[in-house]
Amino acid sequence: MESWQQMLKQSLMKPEDIAARFGLPLEDVQRLNEVFKTRITSYYAGLIREKGDPLYRQMVPDTAELEGAGEPDPLSEEHDSPVPGLVHRYPDRVLFLVSPICASYCRFCTRKRKVGDVSKIHPVHIAAGIDYIRRHTEIRDVILSGGDPLMLGDRRLESILKRLRAIPHVEMLRIGTRIPCVLPQRITPELTAMLRKYHPLYMNVHFNHPDELTEEAVKALGLLADAGIPLGNQTVLLKGVNDDPEVMKKLVRKLLQARVRPYYIYQADYVKGTEHFRTRVEKGLEIMEALRGWTSGLSIPQFVIDAPGGGGKIPLLPNYVLSFGDDVILRNYEGKIFVYPQVGKKEKRETPRRRKPERVAECPMLHSH
Ligand SMILES: *Cc1c(COP(=O)(O)O)cnc(C)c1O
Ligand code: SF4
Repeated sequence: MESWQQMLKQSLMKPEDIAARFGLPLEDVQRLNEVFKTRITSYYAGLIREKGDPLYRQMVPDTAELEGAGEPDPLSEEHDSPVPGLVHRYPDRVLFLVSPICASYCRFCTRKRKVGDVSKIHPVHIAAGIDYIRRHTEIRDVILSGGDPLMLGDRRLESILKRLRAIPHVEMLRIGTRIPCVLPQRITPELTAMLRKYHPLYMNVHFNHPDELTEEAVKALGLLADAGIPLGNQTVLLKGVNDDPEVMKKLVRKLLQARVRPYYIYQADYVKGTEHFRTRVEKGLEIMEALRGWTSGLSIPQFVIDAPGGGGKIPLLPNYVLSFGDDVILRNYEGKIFVYPQVGKKEKRETPRRRKPERVAECPMLHSH
């Protein structure tokens, strides 16, 4: 057994252990464990400083999960699933659920309805999924997800990658994983040596708070980056975790330092049992407003809502275009207003392209940062 597998065994899993460690009523933890599995790696549990802190909120079960609005499958993934464990929503790419389990179970998980339950994401369906991809020549991008694909051992993961790589129309592979955040010890030189054989292979990791970027996590990300794997990060906007422009700014800067490009900030999905994590959409826009221009453009993710009912990811941007016409009236990150003269504009201007965009006025509607 590899050492990461041994570490995994020492995770907090039993309701008794979780109740004792965090001083919670045992019957509550037992009840919650039936609705959605509990597991926290001892590594991640060690990063929790106090009850209710941003890392605690993400992983420690809370009776609020038993209340509130939401749906089991708000993104209608089951509706877009032609074979079990595969979601084919977009024209040229699929989401392929290859592992039912995770190293730690995030209380806000969108796939609470099936993650942690082997009967719902079953290894027997992998062959059928690969077969579907082979028959559908329009699929050029395969995203391995779950659960967490890196919970598979190297050999099982390689057997999936190898079979997908052998399909001529599959141009690229992606892995979506939270392992570098919750069990960075899983990222071994053996794993990265295996992964690099399957390029182009992209990886999207999942960090929600700057405190998760520990020395161990940064080292794991470095190993992946050294293996030539382009790294992106997906963050979920969560109340009491990262619904704060300063926290997000710190997070995206630390990600860049670890050679990870922030990719998405997700508005929390309308998932049953996660109401206490949801923020208003305006909060996400406020965060985007506080990032763009104020820190490296490389660190700016896209803020998206994965549309309820299966519409896919829809980007949201603060409003930078004030009006469209022969002149486009824009405002910049500081709220200053500029005019861009369009090509084909009727009235003559003296050499408009040489003039610097003029500053018209301060935009009164903006709050400053
Ligand atoms: C998010 C997602 C993808 C990938 O979307 P990108 O915007 O290409 O990263 C593909 N399929 C499904 C079902 C998804 O939810
Ligand atoms: S790691 Fe991903 S799939 Fe697993 S519980 Fe967390 S959000 Fe859900």
